[in-house]
Amino acid sequence: MGKTLLQKVWDLHTVRTLPTGQTQLFVGLHLIHEVTTPQAFDALRARGWGVARPDRTFGTVDHIVPTRERTRPFLDVLAEDMIASLERNCRDYGIRLAGLNDDRQGIVHVIGPELGLTQPGMTIACGDSHTSTHGAFGAVAFGIGTSQVRDVLASQCLAMEPLKVRRIRVNGTLPAGVYAKDVILTIIQRLGVSGGVGYAYEYSGDAIERMSMDERMTICNMSIEGGARAGYVNPDRTTFEYLEGRPFAPSGEAFDRARAWWSSIASDPDARYDDDVVIRAEALTPVVTWGVNPGQSVAVTGRIPSGREPGSDPQAVADALSYMGLESGQPIAGLRVDVAFIGSCTNSRLSDLREAARIVRGRHVAPHVKALVVPGSASVKRAAEHEGLDDIFRAAGFEWRAAGCSMCLGMNPDKLEGNQVCAASSNRNFKGRQGSPTGRTLLMSPAMVAAAAVAGEVTDVRDLVGDLVAGGL
Ligand code: SF4
Repeated sequence: MGKTLLQKVWDLHTVRTLPTGQTQLFVGLHLIHEVTTPQAFDALRARGWGVARPDRTFGTVDHIVPTRERTRPFLDVLAEDMIASLERNCRDYGIRLAGLNDDRQGIVHVIGPELGLTQPGMTIACGDSHTSTHGAFGAVAFGIGTSQVRDVLASQCLAMEPLKVRRIRVNGTLPAGVYAKDVILTIIQRLGVSGGVGYAYEYSGDAIERMSMDERMTICNMSIEGGARAGYVNPDRTTFEYLEGRPFAPSGEAFDRARAWWSSIASDPDARYDDDVVIRAEALTPVVTWGVNPGQSVAVTGRIPSGREPGSDPQAVADALSYMGLESGQPIAGLRVDVAFIGSCTNSRLSDLREAARIVRGRHVAPHVKALVVPGSASVKRAAEHEGLDDIFRAAGFEWRAAGCSMCLGMNPDKLEGNQVCAASSNRNFKGRQGSPTGRTLLMSPAMVAAAAVAGEVTDVRDLVGDLVAGGL
């Protein structure tokens, strides 16, 4: 019987089975940022412990950093404390840090891959839910809490419950105007936000195999929103081509040896799966969330549900409709938006910005809409500026910002106000997520956000541009 990638990587990183039945896993790469580390380092100091493997730890600043005015000290005293604390801790413990003015700075799940830190067959941990992003490279990557950050700093190990594997095959060709974001929102809508509890999701099928690494990262990023502990894609030529030449990737003969090993850890053809789901790519459409979790979504051509649909939870639907100020039966298209946000670790990479720029080129943001583009990293920003994407966005009325998490969450100056409605390319539409307790978030692809920005309302991107290339980005 063959093994899945998850089983192979898990076995290779198992230190021992704990009396609790959990596995003590060695962590190949620990990514850290300013928000979930101060207390973890304080706990180390209080016990007189060191950092076990600073050479396998890498830090950046992303969640709280302002994306417009970055003068230190920050006006927000708490934010300044967090960033100063990370700087001090990295200095004291010999950890590499892509700090505020470092040309490698950016969202932790954007810089790990682009620096080549993220590699196939690794176990990766980070104190952020969307660590599943790194699974796009055939890594097994987990989001962890602050106490686990402390444990990994101290021991480079993590106690984990064994996981089942659900294979999700996306077969066929995505229609023009349908993107990786639509694929993962559809998966979450069909399987539910808790459907993945106890699982890792393995994404495969020819639609996934044809995807770029950027698109695979978008898919894996939101695995956690479907309840899965991790999500991954088996490494292949696309993966290896992406990694070759990256600063922390092996080079020369070492790269050839690594590529052979990376190939060997892909799931075997006769691997057994705990569950199997098949999705037809041709049937997919652009998707927009209407509710307060990423599973509450509908095709852009659809209507807001009533709660009486089979399998629906009427109370959850009523609660979401009340918060969002929506009526059941109302078409999602035409819903007025106040803010358009292109950014976050889900959709802030160069290909996302290129696609959004293609939509807004020669058009202008609707007068009542505040629109901003926040590149995922300083490197993405530089590359986009080199291509002139910043000029396209500015000419269209978008603000062009520095790298950070920005409006994905309300921990920095970029926040919704009052009950603004935001078309967002991010990953969470929870109540209050974008900084206003009554702010409302509609998740969608970056191209759909661009379309909403210029139309001033939710609109089908397929109607805006007739020459989209089949298969999305
Ligand atoms: S962009 Fe959002 S989800 Fe991603 S790391 Fe930042 S806060 Fe977390």
